[in-house]
Amino acid sequence: MKVNSAEIVISAVKPDQYPDQTLPEFALAGRSNVGKSSFINKMLNRKSLARTSSKPGKTQTLNFFIINEILHFVDVPGYGYAKVSKKEREAWGKMIETYLTSREQLKAVVLIVDLRHPPTQDDTMMYGFLKHYEIPCIIIATKADKIPKSKWQKHIKITKETLDLDPNDHLILFSSETGHGKDEAWSVIESYM
Ligand code: GDP
Repeated sequence: MKVNSAEIVISAVKPDQYPDQTLPEFALAGRSNVGKSSFINKMLNRKSLARTSSKPGKTQTLNFFIINEILHFVDVPGYGYAKVSKKEREAWGKMIETYLTSREQLKAVVLIVDLRHPPTQDDTMMYGFLKHYEIPCIIIATKADKIPKSKWQKHIKITKETLDLDPNDHLILFSSETGHGKDEAWSVIESYM
């Protein structure tokens, strides 16, 4: 998809703040520092539309972006940040759970993982949660530029096995540095619209 326009609509913490349009929605999830903002910015051809908001002390919000006036990306705050308090973690969990389990226009969750390492326990928990609620998932294995091509297949295999990937879910190799996987990611997203 050619992105002609992309802008932030709202930062929401509760359902009455979600945009009331019924456009197809894709939520972006991943652990802190995995490369989620870089993924969003690459997909939208923007340098810094999505910013890392996962540092403690910053408000944890669901950031809604409207793209080409036809779909929403919803940037979910990153999980697994070690220094977050138990209370903050619980608030995060409630907000995400409410959104993911009640949002009718949610078409799929784009789950970002790091191709270099096996998915973490937080990653497998998140994926398990999504499968429990039967939410379609698109796995983006990012930072592919950081490992040699000859090792890609091995890392993909480990990623799939560690997540126990549902054969219906796509896994896309990605690099925000080179743009590798961008066209494939868009065509998979479009297939869910
Ligand atoms: P977020 O916390 O998940 O939003 O992560 P960021 O997008 O801020 O990325 C975290 C760090 O990883 C930054 O230093 C990025 O420049 C770097 N990074 C993200 N994606 C890639 C990638 O595909 N390749 C490389 N080499 N670095 C990346």
